[in-house]
Amino acid sequence: MLDDAGLQALREAARLSPDNLPLRQHLAGQLLAKGYLGEAEAEYRAALVLAPKDAGIMTGLAEAFVRQSAYGAALAALEPLLAAPGYPPKVGVLAARALLGEGDTARAGYRYHEAISRDPSVGDADLAARLSAPPTPTYGAPALPGQPYAAATPPAGQAYGAPAHPSAPTPVDGATAEIERSRLNFADVAGMEAVKESLRVKLLLPIQQPDLFAAYGKRAGGGVLLYGPPGAGKTHLARAAAGELGASFVNVGLADILDMYIGSSERNLRATFELARRNRPCVLFFDEVDALAARRSDMRQAHTRQLVNQFLAELDGVDQNANEGVLVLAATNAPWYVDVAFRRPGRLDQPVFVPPPDPAARAAILRLLCRDKPLAEMDFDAVARVTDHFVGADLKGVVDRAVEVKLQQSISAGRPIPLSTPDLLAAAQSVRPTAVREWMATARNYVMHSNDSGAWDELMPWVKAKW
Ligand code: ADP
Repeated sequence: MLDDAGLQALREAARLSPDNLPLRQHLAGQLLAKGYLGEAEAEYRAALVLAPKDAGIMTGLAEAFVRQSAYGAALAALEPLLAAPGYPPKVGVLAARALLGEGDTARAGYRYHEAISRDPSVGDADLAARLSAPPTPTYGAPALPGQPYAAATPPAGQAYGAPAHPSAPTPVDGATAEIERSRLNFADVAGMEAVKESLRVKLLLPIQQPDLFAAYGKRAGGGVLLYGPPGAGKTHLARAAAGELGASFVNVGLADILDMYIGSSERNLRATFELARRNRPCVLFFDEVDALAARRSDMRQAHTRQLVNQFLAELDGVDQNANEGVLVLAATNAPWYVDVAFRRPGRLDQPVFVPPPDPAARAAILRLLCRDKPLAEMDFDAVARVTDHFVGADLKGVVDRAVEVKLQQSISAGRPIPLSTPDLLAAAQSVRPTAVREWMATARNYVMHSNDSGAWDELMPWVKAKW
């Protein structure tokens, strides 16, 4: 842990570089470790504005809340994390502490036991002692992961950027997702030429050349399922597609849809589609769509099947023109969990694989990520060569780490020192890549055993390659 002087230096560095996310996150972590809880909370909130979906930040913020006995706020911060299948056991333990603080011993017990069954090392003797009884079948497991006690208020800073266009979005009652105007376009997406081309044909041309498409009886609209390893750039690509098209962008998270009350999730979904229809042309982006579109045969609860049926109905629209100009992009790391009904024509009928970047794409991503930084002469290809298995999100981590180090050096030197190739090479040593290899192994299992319909043909050469 840092001493007070070190902490002061970190505070100063963060003050000078308020947009440096890793630095702010590091400062928040140090404040939390030293027990400066109010200040840690403020830092995490500020970091969340920069990275609204960052799981580490949400977890840190929740811990700061729990330790200040702000249990409701902690649950609100944890809720999007708990909604994702396979959330970290540490998050489960935090949720248990918050639930216990709220007096909900039963659900706290469920969360705690579920967490330690997955990772016994997160056990907390004090918490275990306070949870008097083990869980009983009466309260059961959540119908969908993380559904109960969904909080109405999203954590601070969920909105993404300021609208670049002057036109005000049209709101819809009951829709919590926000309309964004994306400032990205395809030029901001490095590599992925095949994927961009596929989206251009499917999404952009029908809107840019409606007459031609109408001549063949085709309308603008419909959907694409983007799938691939986490961090490979699916969200980035969707946002860029919206910008390329000059369309509104709605980034729908699970927290915008899932609700503990029966019928409410369906209502939220309907309101979200309505929001997109009233703001067309619009790209409606569903992240982690496997949680909303799971195979109905896998479901134990009738009302979760209801949600899938509602999703299918919204994609089909009440009439032919309902979804004209609404492009649904859905992303998942686990496409094999998505109900096959979504692949029918007019729905998410084209699965598009977003692959991990090859060396040339990695160099291009690095070049893009560094473009607004003070730079020495750079050899991005050299960095690309030593970052095998790194996806876009990992490369962003490398650049952020290198910038953080450079900033500290610049503060000591009292003048800006440009970023250089050795800085990136050193940072690459300290960043562990996301689990692309593990993802490929899982994907191989699924596509080798269930590719009857040919849906995963595009993935075949990738999973057969050596990782
Ligand atoms: P996913 O949605 O697949 O998990 P993201 O779209 O969130 O991944 O990617 C994480 C970050 O990585 C993005 O915000 C972006 O900064 C960077 N990134 C990923 N792929 C690319 C790319 N092809 N070009 C430029 N930046 C990229």
